[in-house]
Amino acid sequence: MANRGDVIAREAIEQLSAVADADVLAEERLSHHTTLRIGGPCAAHVTCHTYTALVDALGIMTGEGIPWVVLGKGSNLLVADEGFSGCVVALGREFSRISDTHDGTHVTVGAGALLSRVVSEAQKRGLSGLERCVGIPGTLGGALSMNAGSANEWIGDVVHEVVSLHPGEGMRRRSGEEISWGYRSSSLPGGEIVLEATLKLKEGDPDGIALNMERRLQRRRKSQPMGLPSCGSVFRNPKGRHAAALVEECGLKGAAVGGAQISDIHANFIVNKGTARAADVVELMRRMYEGVRDQAGIELEPEVKFLGFSGR
Ligand SMILES: Cc1cc2nc3c(=O)[nH]c(=O)nc-3n(C[C@H](O)[C@H](O)[C@H](O)COP(=O)(O)OP(=O)(O)OC[C@H]3O[C@@H](n4cnc5c(N)ncnc54)[C@H](O)[C@@H]3O)c2cc1C
Repeated sequence: MANRGDVIAREAIEQLSAVADADVLAEERLSHHTTLRIGGPCAAHVTCHTYTALVDALGIMTGEGIPWVVLGKGSNLLVADEGFSGCVVALGREFSRISDTHDGTHVTVGAGALLSRVVSEAQKRGLSGLERCVGIPGTLGGALSMNAGSANEWIGDVVHEVVSLHPGEGMRRRSGEEISWGYRSSSLPGGEIVLEATLKLKEGDPDGIALNMERRLQRRRKSQPMGLPSCGSVFRNPKGRHAAALVEECGLKGAAVGGAQISDIHANFIVNKGTARAADVVELMRRMYEGVRDQAGIELEPEVKFLGFSGR
């Protein structure tokens, strides 16, 4: 295993450790921070609890030329077995707030808040619009970056405003309409960190919202492997088709490599049966991609994000 210490100077880690309101874990295994429970170490995992801590930490990383990436709960992520030779930035306490509604229907939420908490708060307050996100793991920041949801309804539909940090330049404020939202994509610039968003919801009946959420959760429980670690769908659905059905048609449902398996419940999910390595997942994804290409003439595109491959 490569020692990250040879990539990042010890002094840089010491500087990061001195940042107030930040928790720094050197050589932290990213398997502890991904829902697949896979991934080697990063040079440092830096949880910033305040805006000042975030700006200070990013200043050090930029000044020292250290690559960094912001992560939520790693629920859409495959990290290489060798790890990532840079820093992982996570948003802590100050970024987990859910505000009171300004006018009864608008709620401002920190990007580090768990999406499940936001969904359940909205239901309790009798606010409708986030039912589409029930059962999706991760944070609000990850959901906005990925435009989480289903094929035809997603979180971008209920975004009033997004505030992000452009490192070195300061904060940016964009209205929901200024941002293009597409299937598992948004036009939010990759180098920016989403800090918070204001969601525009509608008044609804808490019991009705809860019932709608429960129906959706039941569908999810029937169609997805809930008991084993995964990163959700590994491939995007091609236009008009379901990646899971295409993989199933190739006879790959249930196929295994090492400790990883194409779920026998949902053929676009890869599950970790306990000992899976990133290399096992990559090999299964290669088989899925080639199988569908050869059988259906369709080139699947990954939905899962990769970190640490090819040295990054
Ligand atoms: C069991 C299971 C079911 C799932 N079902 C669904 C589903 O139905 N629909 C769906 O859309 N997804 C689904 N997913 C995938 C995943 O949960 C979503 O993509 C989720 O929104 C990712 O959030 P995260 O915080 O974990 O992001 P991460 O996986 O940590 O990161 C994902 C991307 O977002 C970026 N990012 C994270 N935080 C920020 C931030 N503050 N600012 C800027 N960029 C940021 C990261 O850099 C990365 O590129 C599922 C996953 C699992 C494990």
